[in-house]
Amino acid sequence: MISVAVVGVGAVGSMALWRLSERGIPAVGFDAYAPGHDRGAAGGESRIFRTAYKEGSAYVPLLRQARDLWEELERRSGRRLLTPAGGVTVGPREHPSIRAVLDSARAFDLPVEVLTGQDARDRVPEHPLRDGEVMVADPEAGHLRPEPAVVAAAAAAERAGARIARYTPVTQVREDAAGVTVVTAEGERRFTHAVVAPGPWARTLLPHEPIVAKAITSTWFPRRDESLFDPGRCPIAIRVGEPAYSCFPSVDGAGVKVNLHVPWREIGSPESLARSVPAAYVRQVARAVAATLPGLRPDPVRVATYADAFTPDGHGLLGRRGRTVVAAAFSGHGFKLAPVFGDIVADLVESGATARGIGHLAPDRPLRRSP
Ligand SMILES: Cc1cc2nc3c(=O)[nH]c(=O)nc-3n(C[C@H](O)[C@H](O)[C@H](O)COP(=O)(O)OP(=O)(O)OC[C@H]3O[C@@H](n4cnc5c(N)ncnc54)[C@H](O)[C@@H]3O)c2cc1C
Repeated sequence: MISVAVVGVGAVGSMALWRLSERGIPAVGFDAYAPGHDRGAAGGESRIFRTAYKEGSAYVPLLRQARDLWEELERRSGRRLLTPAGGVTVGPREHPSIRAVLDSARAFDLPVEVLTGQDARDRVPEHPLRDGEVMVADPEAGHLRPEPAVVAAAAAAERAGARIARYTPVTQVREDAAGVTVVTAEGERRFTHAVVAPGPWARTLLPHEPIVAKAITSTWFPRRDESLFDPGRCPIAIRVGEPAYSCFPSVDGAGVKVNLHVPWREIGSPESLARSVPAAYVRQVARAVAATLPGLRPDPVRVATYADAFTPDGHGLLGRRGRTVVAAAFSGHGFKLAPVFGDIVADLVESGATARGIGHLAPDRPLRRSP
């Protein structure tokens, strides 16, 4: 009889616990905090969902399945988790990321549109184009609510029979021929299988993987015009080129979130994340807002830093090794895929394999450790 320990009940772990429990597989989640906390990779109010994917066409079928599962979780929880207000990628017409978005759309016949001029201004007044720029509109995109989503998945798992050990850090997962042992301050527990989904704390439980934790800073700006950046209508935006950032609608009504895309700073552990953000960084993002987002006042009213785990090639690690499923290092873009990753974890536990295309995430692919 299978029994599973899911270590880390964050974005991916909560979904894994939900999908395992839905299949009737007994599972216990362990988290150092509690589902929905904001100290790891799933904090900060909003996450982008999109299907025309500049990170590679291999993700497109997974994104479509993720979307169905987000809708299922919404039905189960009675909560709006994914607001499908669309998304746009903005930048120079020949920019490689614009071409990659169009390539993945073509490969899977996704209904994207290329907008320019007055059409772009009328449709998305929040994101005016500069000379030579285009806007690729993805009607299947939108924004997710990360903290409520993790709470909803954990609650759905518990309703389906899972148990969650909250505020219970796992210090070790040991595997032998007969099963796995999960070690916490409260003692040791035995399971037939383990899922290790520790997010930016990966180096503790997966010290031999080429994973580093990096800090990503989010900044929120007040609107000049309250009719703009409405969360039910305004698409998420990714601006490529110079400056480069992602921009969200005003989810809480107080500010519009902008995540500047700069080389993110490597950190030892999320526990050491500094609350203070260098003034030079704040000036850099304020300049980007002043230059490209006239609907916002360019001084942030909120600044916060979160962490995620990264591999050298920017794709996560998802696969089974012995009795353990590794689900880690989703490299700054894993939230939207979390439900399908959770379902794949359940496949890997149940049968040791999955029919879904995850070769690009294989933990044993050749990866150079970052210098
Ligand atoms: C600022 C920011 C913006 C992002 N924007 C997007 C976006 O727009 N779209 C998108 O798709 N993705 C985005 N991402 C990436 C996405 O949020 C992450 O890839 C995803 O949340 C990773 O999920 P996870 O389960 O691996 O980690 P987490 O969600 O951090 O979960 C890990 C969990 O493991 C627990 N844990 C760790 N170690 C232990 C232990 N030893 N014992 C017990 N519990 C443990 C932690 O407490 C935590 O709850 C963003 C990430 C950041 C940081």
